[in-house]
Amino acid sequence: MNKISIVVPCYNEEASIPIFYKVIEETLKSMKIDYELIFIDDGSKDKTLEILKNIKDKHVKYISFSRNFGKEAAIYAGLNECSGDFVATMDVDLQDPPSLIPIMYETLKKEDFDCIGTRRVTRKGEPKIRSFFARMFYKIINKISNVEMVDGARDFRLMTRQMVDSILSLKEYNRYSKGIFSFVGFKTKWLEYENIERVAGETKWSFFKLFIYAIEGIVAFSNFPLIISIIFSTLSFVSSIILLIIMIINGFKELLVILSILLFIFSLLFLILGIIGVYVGKIILEVRKRPIYVVRESNLR
Ligand code: UDP
Ligand code: MG
Repeated sequence: MNKISIVVPCYNEEASIPIFYKVIEETLKSMKIDYELIFIDDGSKDKTLEILKNIKDKHVKYISFSRNFGKEAAIYAGLNECSGDFVATMDVDLQDPPSLIPIMYETLKKEDFDCIGTRRVTRKGEPKIRSFFARMFYKIINKISNVEMVDGARDFRLMTRQMVDSILSLKEYNRYSKGIFSFVGFKTKWLEYENIERVAGETKWSFFKLFIYAIEGIVAFSNFPLIISIIFSTLSFVSSIILLIIMIINGFKELLVILSILLFIFSLLFLILGIIGVYVGKIILEVRKRPIYVVRESNLR
């Protein structure tokens, strides 16, 4: 009999876990398949771990981190520890409808796919500017990166063991999973659904956090920002020649204009330095080879 593993990252989710567990358990039971639920307590400060420990069910495993390592690390830990032939990753706040799992499973078994992904077609219930920047982000990253990132793709997906193993073979520290999923390739079928608001608790993503996350995605999967410096230096070289010609014709009196242009060029320089700095910072993180997560407690072994 096939086994399905459900990987669920949880950060301060005491309110959502009981509701989620009830729904997912019913769903999985109705599927007549062996299953395990792997909850990752990502250094929660509330009763998340206590609640997980109190679920008396041999299908339920938990891994509790020593601190908050982030959702990407939590997903990685779950994929690393799960043993299913099919593996799903999903949020605990019921924004990823468990009712889709049987459909995903059937599709994956029947059709020639390696992964069933989900994407939301609306961004209902989300602030307008956030949606705007999200759309911009996907436009930009798909232009400057070789891997395709699907707009609105969620981390809710069901994969074959083969795909999970190839994801695990990417050992990088900076884990931008949307990029990693695309990088490994395989055949993905997309199911679409409307945005659902979380059942309890609140989102852990501030606009600032999302902004940083977007930069991480770009840095992890594109070298284009590094090429920008070459473009800028060419542009500034050409314009300095033009300026020189203008000044030779008009006399050297436009001091203020020159000053402002100088300042502009310097600001570009600093921007480029900053971009290089971000990449160098990432290199240091990779070179150190620190663990992606540290476990404090678990009922896995
Ligand atoms: N999460 C996590 N670690 C974090 C932040 C979030 O494990 O540092 C989990 C969270 O518990 C939830 C999922 O990641 O199960 C998605 O988080 P959230 O619902 O806050 O994000 P949103 O749906 O608003 O994008
Ligand atoms: Mg959510």
